Amino acid sequence: MAQILDGNRVRDEIKAELKPRVERLAAHGRPPGLAVVLVGHDPASEIYVRNKIKTCQDLGIYSEKLTPSDSISTEELLAAVEQLNARHDIDGILVQLPLPAQVDSKRILLAVAPGKDVDGFHPCNMGNLVAGLPGPRACTPAGIVELLQRYRIPISGRRAVVVGRSNIVGKPAALLLLHEHATVTICHSKTPDLAAVCREADILVAALGRPAMITGEYLKPGATVIDVGTTRVEDPVLARRILAGAPERLAAFEKKGHIVVGDVHPVEGPAVAGAYTPVPGGVGPLTIAMLMANTVAAAERRAGVC
Ligand code: NAP
Repeated sequence: MAQILDGNRVRDEIKAELKPRVERLAAHGRPPGLAVVLVGHDPASEIYVRNKIKTCQDLGIYSEKLTPSDSISTEELLAAVEQLNARHDIDGILVQLPLPAQVDSKRILLAVAPGKDVDGFHPCNMGNLVAGLPGPRACTPAGIVELLQRYRIPISGRRAVVVGRSNIVGKPAALLLLHEHATVTICHSKTPDLAAVCREADILVAALGRPAMITGEYLKPGATVIDVGTTRVEDPVLARRILAGAPERLAAFEKKGHIVVGDVHPVEGPAVAGAYTPVPGGVGPLTIAMLMANTVAAAERRAGVC
C-alpha cells in the first residue's frame, strides 16, 4: 500500500508553528497584515479568497479584502496596489489571478512591492529563487518541498521530474528541488515520450492541469508522486472512465454532478507509487499554509524581529 502524504496534517502543523510567531508580532506592536485583492466574481477565486481570509482569522493575522469591480482599469488597479504598498499595517499583498482581460496582469504583479509579494511571483523574488537568495517563495512549490521534508522523503541525490513549466508551479518547484540537490528534469507539452521520462523519477511532480493523465505507465514503482493538478470534472463520460476503479468517488460524482480530479490517475497512481498526495487533501491545503508563512515572515522582516 502506498503511503498517503496528508496535506491537511502538514497544514495543521505549519499553522500551529505560525501561531506563536503571530502572537509575538502582535505583542511587539501589531499582528501581520495581509491584503487580498479580488477583482470581479470568478467563483473559484471567491472560494480561494474566502479560504485565505478564514485561515488568517484562525491565526490572528489581520486581513483585508479589496473587491474592485471587474470593469477596473489597469491604471486604477495600479493605484490600489500602490496604496497597499505604502500602508504600514499591510505586510503582504496578494492579487488573486486571473484578472479580467482588460487589465495588464504583468504590470500589476510588477507593481507589488517585492517585500510584500507573499505569492513570490515578482521577478525580483523569482530572481532570488534562481540565485538561492532569501525571499518569499511561490506558495504551492514551497508547500511541496515542505511536505517532502516533513515526511522525511529524501530529495538530495534523487531524480526529480516536474511535469509543467508555469511560473507559478512548475519552474519554481523545479528550482526548489534543485536547491535541495535533486537532479531535476522539467517536462512540458513538447516533451517527447513523456511517460519514459516520468518513469525515471524517484520524485514526480505533476502540474499539468490534465485530469488523470499520469497513469501507472508513467510511474516508477515505489516513486513519490506529488499531484498538483486540480481539475473540476463535470463530464459524466470522463468521470466514469477515470473513476471506474474508485466506486466511492464515482458515487460522490453521481450525487453531486462534479468532482475535482488531479493530474495523476486516482486508482493507478496509488497502485504503483510508494507515496502520493491525494486530490483533494494533498498539495492544496499547503498552498494557503505557505501563504500564511510568507505573510508572517514578511511581517517579521519589516518589524525586525527575525
Ligand atoms: P499552466 O500554467 O496551465 O501550466 C501547465 C503546464 O503543463 C504547462 O507548462 C504545459 O506545457 C504543461 N502541459 C500541459 N499539457 C501537457 C501535456 N499533455 N504533456 C506535458 N505537459 C503538459 O498550469 P499551472 O498554473 O502550472 O497549474 C497546473 C495545475 O495545477 C492546474 O490543474 C492547476 O489548477 C493546479 N494548481 C493547483 C494548486 C494547488 O494549490 N493545489 C496551485 C496552483 C495550480 P507548455 O508550457 O508546453 O504549454
